[in-house]
Amino acid sequence: MDLLVVGSGAAYPDRPGTASSCYVVLHGGASLCLDLGQGAFAGLAGRLQPADLAAVIVSHLHADHFVDLVALRHYLRYEFDPPRRLRVIAPAELGRRLDGVTGDADFAGGIFEIEARCEGHVQVGPFDIESRRVTHTADSFATRVTLAGAPDGPALVYTGDCGRTQDLIPLIHPGDLLLSEVAFGPGPVPVPDLHLDGAAVGHLAAKSRVSQVLLTHLQMKRHPGATLAAVRGEYQGQVALVGDGDRVTITG
Ligand SMILES: [Zn+2]
Ligand SMILES: [Zn+2]
Repeated sequence: MDLLVVGSGAAYPDRPGTASSCYVVLHGGASLCLDLGQGAFAGLAGRLQPADLAAVIVSHLHADHFVDLVALRHYLRYEFDPPRRLRVIAPAELGRRLDGVTGDADFAGGIFEIEARCEGHVQVGPFDIESRRVTHTADSFATRVTLAGAPDGPALVYTGDCGRTQDLIPLIHPGDLLLSEVAFGPGPVPVPDLHLDGAAVGHLAAKSRVSQVLLTHLQMKRHPGATLAAVRGEYQGQVALVGDGDRVTITG
């Protein structure tokens, strides 16, 4: 499996050309999209055929993780005749949120096949998706992706947005690749914000013995070097901050 970073920005990135949360997992000809935040649709469509995605999986309903589903729906509706359909696995409120954003009473109808996300496993194309609730919004999930039938890995764990690393411990197996938000960089995370900082991610990585850590979702004015140093203060393994367009092989 490969990880393609489409959007690595936080809720309001200030680096031109940077989109917010969007990550694609690739295996053979199959692809899976994790989150689709603002500005990410162009980066997605410029790199692969969005209509061929096995599914889009949404971590939680903050706009920087789902709002470009509006663009994706328009693309599937107006670029194809007949329109293409796409599986979307998301917190239960998604359909109503999209209706609210667009003023359309059934915006996703006939295009998105929305499934309410819950804890546990679901198969999507060749991928097994394990979901676990995390402390952020009332309905937020972290995700572990493996190939179906290969639960021991290689595996990618994506934190989504998360305020408590303890929530992630049961999801992570030793040797997994951890793709973690590090919104508050070197930290600390101000109370009552529910995000992670470098020291928390480093501590989590060491405790769960991951193979490497990829950092993302860093807010404006948070120093990248100081963020990496904060992680390395707790974790001796490989750590990098990812950017849009990066592609990484997920090894077991
Ligand atoms: Zn969030
Ligand atoms: Zn976010």
